[in-house]
Amino acid sequence: MTPEEFRKYGRQVVDWIADYWERVESLPVRSQAEPGEVRRRLPAHPPERGEPFEALLADMDRVVLPGVTHWQHPRFFAYYPANASGPAVLGDLLSSGLGVQGMLWATSPACTELEQLTLDWLAELLGLPGRFGSDGPGGGVIQDTASSSVLVALAAALQRASSGSVRADGAGGRYAVYASAEAHSAIDKAVVIAGLGERALRKVEVDPQTQAMDPRHLRDLVEADTAAGVRPVMVMATVGTTSTAAIDPVAAIGEICRERCIWLHIDAAYAGVAAVCPELRWVNNGAEYADSYATNPHKWLLTNFDCDAFWVADRADLVAALSILPEFLRNQASESGAVVDYRDWQIPLGRRFRALKLWAVIRWYGAEGLRAHIRRHVDLAAEFAALVHSDDRFELVAPHPLALVCFRLRTTGPADQDRANLGLMERLNAAGDLYLTHTKVGGRVALRMAIGGTRTERRHVTQAWQHICDAVATSA
Ligand SMILES: *Cc1c(COP(=O)(O)O)cnc(C)c1O
Repeated sequence: MTPEEFRKYGRQVVDWIADYWERVESLPVRSQAEPGEVRRRLPAHPPERGEPFEALLADMDRVVLPGVTHWQHPRFFAYYPANASGPAVLGDLLSSGLGVQGMLWATSPACTELEQLTLDWLAELLGLPGRFGSDGPGGGVIQDTASSSVLVALAAALQRASSGSVRADGAGGRYAVYASAEAHSAIDKAVVIAGLGERALRKVEVDPQTQAMDPRHLRDLVEADTAAGVRPVMVMATVGTTSTAAIDPVAAIGEICRERCIWLHIDAAYAGVAAVCPELRWVNNGAEYADSYATNPHKWLLTNFDCDAFWVADRADLVAALSILPEFLRNQASESGAVVDYRDWQIPLGRRFRALKLWAVIRWYGAEGLRAHIRRHVDLAAEFAALVHSDDRFELVAPHPLALVCFRLRTTGPADQDRANLGLMERLNAAGDLYLTHTKVGGRVALRMAIGGTRTERRHVTQAWQHICDAVATSA
C-alpha cells in the first residue's frame, strides 16, 4: 500500500468508524449470530491475489458487524465497560503508524519516556502515593491487562520473599498467596503460571453484607501458615470486585502485610480510575501500604483496550525477578544504568507504544473531562439504584458506591428466584435493546447493571429501566 493509497483508505476507515459510532445506538446490543455463522459467510481459503481494500470494508458491514456485540453501544451494561474514545483510537493509530518496538529504552527512547511521564501524570490524577513515581525507586508501566499485573506482582513478591531462590530453584510448596473469595480469577491463574500450584492460594472469607475481605480471617490464615512453616508471599486486595464492586479494607490488610513483610498488591482494575474525582479518592485509602497497584484505563477511563496501568513502590524486586539479558540486547544506555528498560517489567519482550493513546486521552479530556466522565456514571448509577429501590418488585443486593448496581427480582422461593432472574435477563438480552450480565451474591443470582459507556447518558439508563419493567410486566 503506497502512502497515497493509505491516505485514501485511511480516510475511509476513519469515516467508517465515525459512522459506526453515530449509528451504534440503532443496532442490537448483543450479537444475534449463531455459532459458526460468521465463518460460514467468509471464504474458507486465503486469496491468491490481493484484493481491493473496499472489499474488506464491504465485508465489515456484511459479515463482521452482525457478529459483533457492541461494547460501545450506550445501552451496553454487561460485565464492566470497555471504553473507546476518539483520542484513544487516534493515539493508537499513531502508535501503529510508528510501529516501534519499545522493549528497551534504546529501541525508542520516546516510547519509554512518554510512558513514564504519562503514568506519573495518571498517578497524580488519581492521588496515588508519591512512592509510585518514577523519580524514586518505584515507577509505573503499562501492561496489557490487570491479569498480567497480578502475575508480575507475584513474580516480584516471590523474588523478595525468597531472596531470589525461587527464580533459581522453583517454589517447592513452601509459599502461600491470599486473596478474597470474591477476587478476580486472574490470581488463580497467576499462582498456576508462577508454578506455586492452586493449593498455594488461600481464599479469604468476605463479609456477607459488603462482600469485602475479612481481615481477621486473613490474619488467622497467615498465622496458621507461618506456624506450619509456609511463607506468606503476597496478599492481593481488591478495590472494586468484578462481581459487585466490593472494596476490601486495604488499610487493615496493609497493616498485616507490613507486620509480616508480605507483598501487598492492589487490584483496582475497574474502580481505581474513579479516584480522578477528589470525592471518590477514598477508593484508594490504604494505597500507601501497597508494594504494587494496578488499574485499567481500558475499562472506565476512555482508553481503548489494552491499557492497564501498573505501579511498583520499588522496582528492584520486579526487575530482579524478570530481567533476562541476551547478548543481542546489550547496549550502552542499559549498561549505564541511566534508563529504564520496560522489557524487565513485563512478561513478553516486545511492547507497543501504548502510552500514546493514554497520553492522547489525558490531553484531550484534561482532568476536568475525565472527572465529568466518571461523575456522570456514578450519578446515573445512584439514580438507577433509586428506581430499583422504590419498586417493590425488585431488591438491591449489594452496596453500589460507584457505577455498578446489583439487583434482582423478588419472588416467593429461592429456586424460583434464580430462574426468574436468569429468564428476565435472557429475554432482555435476546431483544437486543440492552445488555446485562449476572453474578451470584451469597450464592444467589443477581443482575449487574454496569454503567460506564463512553456514550451512556441519562436517557439510556431510563430506557433500560423501562425495558426491564416492560419485560417483567409482560411475563407476569
Ligand atoms: C476486569 C478485572 C480484572 C481483569 O482485567 P484484565 O485487564 O482483563 O486482565 C481483574 N480484576 C478485576 C477486579 C477486574 O474487574
